[in-house]
Amino acid sequence: MKRLQNYINGKLSEPISQKYLDNLDPSSGRAYSLLPDSDGRDVEQAVNAARAAFSDWAATEAEERCLIMLRIADLIERDLEMLAGAESIDNGKPVTLARSVDIPRAAANFRFYATAAMHMANESHDTIGRNAINYTLRRPLGVVGCISPWNLPLYLFTWKVAPALAAGCTVVAKPSEITPMTAYLLSKLAIEAELPPGVLNIVHGTGPKVGSAIVAHPDTKAISFTGGTKTGEEIARVAAPMFKKLSLELGGKNPNIIFADCNYDEMIATSVRSSFSNQGEICLCGSRIFVERPIYERFRNDLVESVKALKVGDPADEATDVGAIVSKQHLEKIMSYIELAKTEGGTILCGGQAAAGMAGFFIEPTVIEGLPFDCRTNQEEIFGPVVTIMPFDTEDEVLRYANSVRYGLSATVWTENLSRAHRVAAALESGIVWINCWLLRDLRTPFGGVKDSGVGREGGFEAVRFFTEEKNICIKY
Ligand code: NDP
Repeated sequence: MKRLQNYINGKLSEPISQKYLDNLDPSSGRAYSLLPDSDGRDVEQAVNAARAAFSDWAATEAEERCLIMLRIADLIERDLEMLAGAESIDNGKPVTLARSVDIPRAAANFRFYATAAMHMANESHDTIGRNAINYTLRRPLGVVGCISPWNLPLYLFTWKVAPALAAGCTVVAKPSEITPMTAYLLSKLAIEAELPPGVLNIVHGTGPKVGSAIVAHPDTKAISFTGGTKTGEEIARVAAPMFKKLSLELGGKNPNIIFADCNYDEMIATSVRSSFSNQGEICLCGSRIFVERPIYERFRNDLVESVKALKVGDPADEATDVGAIVSKQHLEKIMSYIELAKTEGGTILCGGQAAAGMAGFFIEPTVIEGLPFDCRTNQEEIFGPVVTIMPFDTEDEVLRYANSVRYGLSATVWTENLSRAHRVAAALESGIVWINCWLLRDLRTPFGGVKDSGVGREGGFEAVRFFTEEKNICIKY
């Protein structure tokens, strides 16, 4: 079976333990490759390589950093088909999605931050009346850690690594052990693009062994993490007393709020996507759907009809809409929430079970009604192809429902009433609000959550600044 390798100091290498873990294809449930079961010793080597590479990379002219990163973006695009196929096998997502979203976005992340390196600027402040000028230097932090989840593997991995490299930091990164393949393939592209050795190091393995070693290492100056809220808490517990900079992009339980005056056809089509894209395994999916009562019945019937028409099946099949759930363990978690919903009084309108006749980990897209807004099913993150629908009568009422959860990542609002759109957007406890659209991304905008959905913002120059330390210099003349 194919063995993936770590990427340390510019070379592909075996884990020091010589041990490997099975990497499963979720559509068959069978192991199809092996990934390094690395540990703190491999992380130590990676940090040493990153530390040795730091001063040269930090001193490399912005234009050169930019050109190397643009080469990586071009190579990702050159290999788009191969990478999309690999992502689909590794994660279970439809290959059509990997081809149209995941891999193009990974290239876009590198291209966006390559050019950001050329456009970063520092402020100066003319301190009028005091005969002084202040200017602010921003210098890269040093070695930083990037840890990413399994749902959008290369997309989220590059979303962290690219701004860190643009800032002049050197990186020790860990992809999810469940979806390591495209990060491994990226390491080969980094070699081909002649990224200097040690600038990017990728250590494969589990969170408890590799992730926690990256977080606890005294020489990683910042941790950029995307994943579950509980893991984020653990990381903060270790990193905060060491005064590391932390960017935590965590879980969500996002509301999709539909007013009766919306553009109905566009709303229905988008709501199917915002509920079930990537098997509902996107932190931005709108899993709680609130519908204004006058259109509730119509919406319920149309949504269920559209969802029943979704084709669940082989991720490699071009006609598949909903692929495999990423792992057996995650499938069991999702199924346990469907059972919980029943005990809480919910009615399953469609789906609700593992897809029949499939060898791997498949769940039929599921719509549930009849649950109160404050039950566990409506408060806890499920992160699968499961949505609940609930009617509401007033704006105040739906805002209370929407804001009742501990999370605050994103929200969607459907209305043609401009005043209401602004009013509701401002009142939602959420880092991102989409009005009459979903997942319409502009990489310059701040991305992140409030409450238990995280700390800090990715995107734009903010992400590059995160990887720098500011120093103010005051000159009296
Ligand atoms: P996890 O928190 O389980 O894992 C995320 C990463 O952290 C993995 O690489 C994991 O390793 C690693 N990890 C696990 N334990 C530790 C530890 N103690 N120290 C350091 N690293 C550790 O999340 P999932 O992979 O299950 O991803 C799903 C979650 O991610 C959902 O909650 C989802 O909402 C959230 N998410 C948030 C996004 C956002 O932008 N806010 C975007 C996408 C997802 P391992 O390989 O062992 O799993």
